[in-house]
Amino acid sequence: MPLGVLPTNVYLAVPYSEKEDAKKLGAKFDWNKKMWYSLSNNYNLNELQEKWKINTEPVILTGEDRTYGGNELFIDLIPHTSWGRNARSCIHERDWDRVRNHVYNRVDNTCECCHNKTKHIEAHERWHYDYDTETQKLVRLVALCRDCHRVTHSGRLGADGDMEARRSAKEHLKKVRNFTDEDFTVHCKSTGGLYRKRNNIMWNLDLSLLSNNNIKLNNIKLIKQHADAVEWEEKMDIGRAERQVLAEMRQQTSALDRAFRERVREAEIESTNTAASWYKKRGRRYPN
Ligand SMILES: [Zn+2]
Repeated sequence: MPLGVLPTNVYLAVPYSEKEDAKKLGAKFDWNKKMWYSLSNNYNLNELQEKWKINTEPVILTGEDRTYGGNELFIDLIPHTSWGRNARSCIHERDWDRVRNHVYNRVDNTCECCHNKTKHIEAHERWHYDYDTETQKLVRLVALCRDCHRVTHSGRLGADGDMEARRSAKEHLKKVRNFTDEDFTVHCKSTGGLYRKRNNIMWNLDLSLLSNNNIKLNNIKLIKQHADAVEWEEKMDIGRAERQVLAEMRQQTSALDRAFRERVREAEIESTNTAASWYKKRGRRYPN
């Protein structure tokens, strides 16, 4: 570098799990851009770029089944054993941007379910669940408008307690699918049954659709999130047991309360009777 020229920042695609290795080679973190970078005069720049160069190549998703699940809108609940684990969380943010832009561009920002053209488009992951191998495999990415995307996860919205969002998701699904209230109830029952079935399994995630297409996976996060899911399950079990104990205590308390009030009533009658007979014995009028 000629003298007098200030070094520039060369940005890098360093996954969280590899940040310590990058730091050792002199990479720094830009808190404004939330990205790793190296100064252009860093002695290790070549090595850093070899490992973590930001890939700007267009994405090609060879092996994707673009017919999987059809193009009708439906509630598509992710089992809670996989919550937080998705394609987006397993790849670098820059790669996710490349993937989703590819998904949006190929349909010209048009929702693949309701055909609405919008700038608020989102990428929805479609998974195939193989019960024999307990594998949840990413098979397709669908461009959805915000409303349709909300519908696909509307069970989760209810779980989070956002009933208003759930209500508007219901209305949107009814409109797009031309559902009556009854159709909607039937649909919820069938997706709910499927959800409970899927919840019984700790799924292995198969993201080969991405890794086979040159997109690097961040595996450490996967393992951590799997552990989080197990912990969540255990917490749910503890929560259930605690609620059961509380319900029993409440039942016992209300039985004791009933017995106490009954005894007070009896004592009142007894004391009235005793007082009345005391007055009667003495030929006096009971002043009640
Ligand atoms: Zn839509």
